Amino acid sequence: MNVTWNPWHGCHKISPGCQNCYVYRQDARYERDSSQVVKNKTFYLPVEKNRSGEYKLRREGDGIVYLCFSSDFFLEDADGWRDECWRMIKQRSDLDFLFITKRIHRFYECIPSDWGDGYDNVHICCTCENQSMADFRLPIFLEAPIKKKSIVCEPLLEEIDLSAYLNHGISQLIAGGESGYNARPCRYEWILSLRSQCIAAGVSFYFKQTGAKFIKDNRLYNIPRKLQHSQAAKAGINVCF
Ligand code: SF4
Repeated sequence: MNVTWNPWHGCHKISPGCQNCYVYRQDARYERDSSQVVKNKTFYLPVEKNRSGEYKLRREGDGIVYLCFSSDFFLEDADGWRDECWRMIKQRSDLDFLFITKRIHRFYECIPSDWGDGYDNVHICCTCENQSMADFRLPIFLEAPIKKKSIVCEPLLEEIDLSAYLNHGISQLIAGGESGYNARPCRYEWILSLRSQCIAAGVSFYFKQTGAKFIKDNRLYNIPRKLQHSQAAKAGINVCF
């Protein structure tokens, strides 16, 4: 089972990929306002200990702590809270922390003073849902001192040419469609194009999910949420270097 740590909740839409944000969709069910960013009770989770003095948060599954999956770790509203998170991340050097951001342009404002060329246990994923976001975010991402870097193209909204950006310390590219009732369609040829670019650059490729509306051979498939991951896996197109 994946380990998650959401130190705060809520976010602001910033680019086309946010249109049908799952945080907003989930909150809408409970009439909760996602734009109100609040600290969670689990804020100190990585350093909480049990009565025996052992950390409650331990390595499980793939050993990764998935950080800030109900917000964006580089969100402006969290500027006053982030340094405390960095201190906890540093203290828990036995764990790897991974987060996905649409705000890589805030990287230098958000790193701690002792970041240097990056913490060994931090993996940052930069999201690019379309060509313009890729062309804006990836040059910043590639330049940034980060030890572990991946690109996430999800929801993939159009065909993207990333050939200029791969092969620069990117370990993996993750691609997928959009889920939810109002999902925008994802075309299989866009996925295959990214896969080909990854193979050419020697970057691992992972087709995570089809999304709710998937077009293959010019035919639209409406795919239920519970099958979106398994249908992607069935394609058998993942590549590992
Ligand atoms: S950045 Fe992420 S969490 Fe924030 S609104 Fe966009 S999709 Fe949602």
